Amino acid sequence: MDCLFCKIIAGEIPSAKVYEDETVYAFKDINPMAPVHVLIVPKNHIDSVNGITAENSAVVAHIYEVAAKLAKELGIAEDGYRVVTNCGANAGQTVFHLHFHLLGGKALKVEMC
Ligand code: 5GP
Ligand code: ZN
Repeated sequence: MDCLFCKIIAGEIPSAKVYEDETVYAFKDINPMAPVHVLIVPKNHIDSVNGITAENSAVVAHIYEVAAKLAKELGIAEDGYRVVTNCGANAGQTVFHLHFHLLGGKALKVEMC
């Protein structure tokens, strides 16, 4: 499959790895929007939130567990941070491999839409 994040997970494209385990990979966003901007992705390819099912949804809970752990390690847990995923064109999704942005290190704009 021609997927950028699958290639990053496979090590075919370099990335600044922050965390890895059996089911999840996390790396620094190439174009950071905040002092801390990490992408947390499932190793198994899922296109977007639209592809989450009863069979594969456990990894989403695990991704939030990893987000909380990384927020502590990266020193943003106390001041606060955002975990967000974009789904589809209207949300501005550009890479169609499910990913969660972990953003922090500054006061983030409060814009829901
Ligand atoms: P989206 O807009 O789909 O929610 O987020 C995609 C994110 O992937 C963007 O924040 C973008 O900067 C990041 N990104 C795109 N290509 C690469 C890449 O090759 N390496 C890394 N580390 N991040 C990337
Ligand atoms: Zn993929």
